[in-house]
Amino acid sequence: MDKHLAIVNAAAGSGQCGKLAGNAISDLRDKGLELDVWYTRRPGHAVELARDALGQGYRSFIAVGGDGTAHEIVNGVAEVFSSPDERVCLGFLPLGTGNSFIRDYTRLGEAGAMAGLLRGRTRPCDVVRVRHAEGELYFINIFSFGFVADVCELTNARYKALGSAGYAMGVMAMLARLRFEPVFMRLDGEKPWEQRAAFVSINNSQYTGGNMQMAPYANPADGLVDLVVVGELGRAKFVSLFLKIFRGGHVHHPEVTTSRAATVEFNFDAPLPVMVDGEVVHIAPRELDVLPGALDVRI
Ligand SMILES: [Mg+2]
Repeated sequence: MDKHLAIVNAAAGSGQCGKLAGNAISDLRDKGLELDVWYTRRPGHAVELARDALGQGYRSFIAVGGDGTAHEIVNGVAEVFSSPDERVCLGFLPLGTGNSFIRDYTRLGEAGAMAGLLRGRTRPCDVVRVRHAEGELYFINIFSFGFVADVCELTNARYKALGSAGYAMGVMAMLARLRFEPVFMRLDGEKPWEQRAAFVSINNSQYTGGNMQMAPYANPADGLVDLVVVGELGRAKFVSLFLKIFRGGHVHHPEVTTSRAATVEFNFDAPLPVMVDGEVVHIAPRELDVLPGALDVRI
């Protein structure tokens, strides 16, 4: 099927997406893109819609919303990633709160993403598979636990409508409870990594939360994830380090360790809050591995 399917999360961007999507989609049609449009009705619905659409023969999707919408589509079409002769293509109409993933490809936001859709060129992008105690999930942007996930959970629950000011409030509230948990990881089956950490971020692409450059050297097509681990340090130093994430300068801090790997094993025995592509889930991760070039992105 040559037709594209736009999956619209009208609730994204505190409802802004619903207001803007109609015009943006008309614009794409006027410029020659043939597309069907399906709307989500609840969180998680884009996973089901994408899975149904895959069954109906759709192979080209457009995520209309934020990072969470793209994340759900990726998880809905995941069976394709292990198939040798099937491919799925994903484009973006970024009308959500955090449109972090596409920043690796364009700084022009919606205009850059629209140009990418109309140009029609695709390129392979890695997908990361996470096996956890109750199943598996997939991500294309970021997987993070510790302080980053705790702030995200609090902000999404209480302050999301306030945008970046809400995020700042989440950071301030969690700073008072800053803690350093022991983390064990094994990279690529050999290198053990054990330390107390404020947070661990495992990145396929560079940005999170819209414009925070968590992994400034990440390449979403190199077959590897970029790990960023922030160790134990005082609260004042932590704040100054955290502010540096907006420009990616934190990775040069002495308390920050970085590495790259194709697989990461964990030894968590209980679920913990994990931020995945901007949303928080409670899982006990066992292992993650990169599926090199498993998805085509149209951007
Ligand atoms: Mg990479």
